[in-house]
Amino acid sequence: MSFFDQGALIGVMTTQPLDRLLDYKAPPGGCQTGDFVEVPLGPRKVLGVVWGKGQGGYDPAKLRSVIRVLDAAPMREEMQAFLTRAAEYTLTPMPAMLRLATRSPGLGDPPSMRRVYRLGRGAPDRQTDARRRVVETLKDYGGLAFTLGELAEAAGVSTSVIKGLVKQGVVSEEDSPRDLPYPALDPGYGGAVLTPDQAAVAEPLIAAVRAGDYGTTLLKGVTGSGKTEVYLEAVAECLTRGRQALVLLPEIALTAEFLTRVEKRFGARPAEWHSGVTMTERRRAWRMVSEGGASLVVGARSALFLPFRDLGLIVVDEEHDTSYKQEDGVFYNARDMAVLRASICSAHVILASATPSLESWANAEAGKYSRLTLDARFGAAQMPDMRAIDMRGETLPSSRWISPRLQREVEARLERGEQALLFINRRGYAPITLCRACGHQIGCDHCDARMVEHRFLKRLVCHQCGETKPMPSQCPSCEAEDRLAPVGPGVERLAEETAGLFPDARIAVLSSDLYGSARALKKHIVRIAEGQADIIIGTQLVAKGHNFPLLTLVGVIDADLGLQGSDLRAAERTFQLMRQVAGRAGRSDRPGTALMQTYQPDHPVIRAILSGDEEGFWRAEAAERQAAGVPPFGRMAGIVLSSPNVQEVFDLGAEMARNDGPLRQIGAQVFGPAPAPIARIRGRHRVRLLVKADKGAPVQAAVARWVAQFKWPASLRLSIDIDPQSFY
Ligand code: ADP
Ligand code: ZN
Repeated sequence: MSFFDQGALIGVMTTQPLDRLLDYKAPPGGCQTGDFVEVPLGPRKVLGVVWGKGQGGYDPAKLRSVIRVLDAAPMREEMQAFLTRAAEYTLTPMPAMLRLATRSPGLGDPPSMRRVYRLGRGAPDRQTDARRRVVETLKDYGGLAFTLGELAEAAGVSTSVIKGLVKQGVVSEEDSPRDLPYPALDPGYGGAVLTPDQAAVAEPLIAAVRAGDYGTTLLKGVTGSGKTEVYLEAVAECLTRGRQALVLLPEIALTAEFLTRVEKRFGARPAEWHSGVTMTERRRAWRMVSEGGASLVVGARSALFLPFRDLGLIVVDEEHDTSYKQEDGVFYNARDMAVLRASICSAHVILASATPSLESWANAEAGKYSRLTLDARFGAAQMPDMRAIDMRGETLPSSRWISPRLQREVEARLERGEQALLFINRRGYAPITLCRACGHQIGCDHCDARMVEHRFLKRLVCHQCGETKPMPSQCPSCEAEDRLAPVGPGVERLAEETAGLFPDARIAVLSSDLYGSARALKKHIVRIAEGQADIIIGTQLVAKGHNFPLLTLVGVIDADLGLQGSDLRAAERTFQLMRQVAGRAGRSDRPGTALMQTYQPDHPVIRAILSGDEEGFWRAEAAERQAAGVPPFGRMAGIVLSSPNVQEVFDLGAEMARNDGPLRQIGAQVFGPAPAPIARIRGRHRVRLLVKADKGAPVQAAVARWVAQFKWPASLRLSIDIDPQSFY
């Protein structure tokens, strides 16, 4: 870190889209590396960070001075290093990276004040229940200050009760800075007694955190085995060491449940960071993380870019989840960035999952990550009994998806007062058209995609290129007449069928698009868990970590749904999703059953799911990808060009494909241009190129040299996705 006296030449990284450092003069009083500053840029004032010495070469007379140094803890050197390395890895311009790290409203503004309430010294003239609750609430939280609204809510009283107590001096009223530190977490507050299996896994994790070096551990364990319980022990150790911890969750809807758990374990709630957090809380969280007033943060992937003062542990829960990959703006995978950040600040990473990604599995196999496994569910809970329903042998009327066998099983649950879940990973009304004679699915002639039946339009539509055609009467593959049938209804259509089959059952539909807010969804989930529904119809939303104690049957309507398709991760995703869904059944003391309706009971993925032979599945999947030279055994980069002019964008794509010298130098190949999965967005036509290289090849550098060869028209936009998750 260097200090610059007034007038010294400094280089400032701004959040403006200019891919270089800008030279300025240090302001009166000087500044130091990492300072957040406001600088003039043309007629505007913009946010920046003092990155180091200036480059010089400008007319010193024209050099402008930093306007002011903001009132915020300077960016640490390790954060600069992290952003730089992340930018290099993802081929993202630094300003875009810096924007991720400065997402705090009013960063650098002087702290504002707010009115807070604490326990005073006076005694009330007259005791009432409401008054007693206020006093008890304040005592419970030992000296903590509340806002009027918070206190009224926590005590369950009206604000006038509190105002009355203020008049009598029972409650004190004062102004205090808005950005209060978070209540301290107590590592010894409420830990569970771990089972011997859990303890055997917790010990090495605790030791790793204690050692204080970088390392990554894959914590694999069936749903309900106590992974959370165990990694909270590692968090406890981290807090004991006085270092900060970060827990990443894939879904905001899960945070509420998790926060309650943290409170039970550590006696107070942690800081939260995700899109559902208010501006004021965001500001507070950002500031307190940087000043050490927040020891634990629970958040979404963007929490990785918070200015931690001393980060000692990052937990990536459900590490296989696709929502960790950001695919707009800056393309990054939070799991990989967690490992990068941890390696820079000497923190430990725990990747937790019942069904790890093949990437992490391969890294563990290769010895880059340690691996710890929890095989048994906690307590009486057993992994559900998993069986296939061979749909080729079930007689189902058309436009019905619940087999007679599944129907009987659901009825049995209803009679016993237990819950059943019917799972279909399709929102809305989006089926496949399948030939019941040969199993062929109608695809688009122009894309590698299935055609989707639209009843209103009475046509088949390709969701990728928009191509439509009338429904044929013959199978294009085996030419059988009238054997084409829609398969795989959306949740809403399935709910209709369910209501017809079980007219007296209370049915709840759980699909992320049906709720206005995470809060509404969460409320709904809590009501369902309490038993206010007999049958749950859900999409993949239900597969993620929710607990339904009364649930004893999971019926997977179409286990084949994820098996086809051109995505190289289709088998992996299906395997993970099915295992997770099945994990919903029998989480407490009643045994669960999972039934999978399939037309392909002999498919290797279905067999692996049913037999529970996970290692076998991973080995087979790894061998296949290794043979194909695709991730994680090869490298890929996806390039998307977009422009309002369809001809222009295809021409440029073809030009890029022709001039692939820098890629050939590293032995990489380029495929395309092809229409992107979504061929047009908001009037912009999109084409995609795919770069494929060997594992060790310096892909980023080659891609950077490759794209630098071209002069783009202003109308063109280019995005680069290193290690893309979805590509076809
Ligand atoms: P996972 O994260 O692997 O799904 P959890 O940590 O959520 O598993 O544990 C599943 C359930 O079992 C939770 O309700 C948890 O509180 C409980 N549980 C797990 N281990 C213990 C333990 N050692 N003592 C008490 N309860 C436990
Ligand atoms: Zn198409």
